[in-house]
Amino acid sequence: MADSDYKNYDISSIVGHKKQLEFLNAIFAGNRMPSGLLFFGQKNIGKKFTAVVFAASVLCSDYKAFSGKNDDRLLNFCGKCPSCVSLLNGASQNFMTVEPSGSAIKIESIHKINSFLSLTSAYPGYRFIIIDEASSMNASAANALLKMLEEPVGKTIFILVTSNPGILLPTVVSRCLLLGFSPVPDEFLLNVFKTEFPDIKTETLELYAKLSRGSYSGFMGLIEGGYLEKRNFLIRTIFKELFMEYQNKNIYKNFYEISAKFNLFEKEAATARRKEKNLNSNENSASKAEENYDKGYVFELILFILRDIYIYKVSKNEKLLYNEDIADEIKEFALDSALSSKDIGHMIELTVEYLEKINSYNLNKSIAADSYFSNLLSL
Ligand SMILES: [Zn+2]
Repeated sequence: MADSDYKNYDISSIVGHKKQLEFLNAIFAGNRMPSGLLFFGQKNIGKKFTAVVFAASVLCSDYKAFSGKNDDRLLNFCGKCPSCVSLLNGASQNFMTVEPSGSAIKIESIHKINSFLSLTSAYPGYRFIIIDEASSMNASAANALLKMLEEPVGKTIFILVTSNPGILLPTVVSRCLLLGFSPVPDEFLLNVFKTEFPDIKTETLELYAKLSRGSYSGFMGLIEGGYLEKRNFLIRTIFKELFMEYQNKNIYKNFYEISAKFNLFEKEAATARRKEKNLNSNENSASKAEENYDKGYVFELILFILRDIYIYKVSKNEKLLYNEDIADEIKEFALDSALSSKDIGHMIELTVEYLEKINSYNLNKSIAADSYFSNLLSL
């Protein structure tokens, strides 16, 4: 399956997971490759990435087997041999990835694997099928996959990736060798960030490390999405006005103004990011995916802040906050406003509802914001 972002894959981007890499290395070097592997662990911590790198390393013609002596020789691929080039271009005869279409992996995807395997049966060597979000397989897909696991064809290796192994068919799980992934410890992430982003202050990096909860890609998302800038705007403008409205019981009056400020900020932030990426500043040139990402991101930020306000309101414990650096503001919102914890709970529910709407429909952004703030103020 063509997936051009593999072009950017780089072994050095695997942060942590040394034990997992050593394990994979050992089963390959020891000629003990199973027909099914199940990578499980929290979302966005590098499971699929590790699966792709493992496959690429095994398929690379320049791979030198792990000797067991040199401690730092982990999986690696050259990126230049014919096998690497075809894999990185999404045209490999030995490598295929499957992911949900919509919310589920359906039987059609498993049929595609079948035809891929029969078309390429003449190719020698290992063949890798990576099934991302494997827990989203529906029953017929899971049963069809089970058949393939039970009667493996040649040297075919399935790697199932999931953050939710509990809902996989037990018979599928029992056919796989399990490999768990843990979130990367903050300290470890922090050291990598310091090297990669020498221009960013240590305190800021520390905050990002905490917010990304052990996820390297989560961290990159925060940096690329301008997390701090957006959060601070939300806190100082939107939340301040919003909570003042409750305080003054001026409810209903001002939602349009708040929404207009919110939309303006969103627009400016999007333009700034496009400029940074050297893209055309014409708004219409934004890809659909990028636009949707933008849409959900700010609502996720709002959720993050509301979550902290709620937690502080019910626990009075500063240590539980994600946004530790703005604890004073969080406390003020939690304690000084006329809102009860139940009200804040409702605000969280409403935000989740909007986040889901935005992610599943092509909602006009400014209309969504108008309706969101009007609902928020009429709680
Ligand atoms: Zn290679």
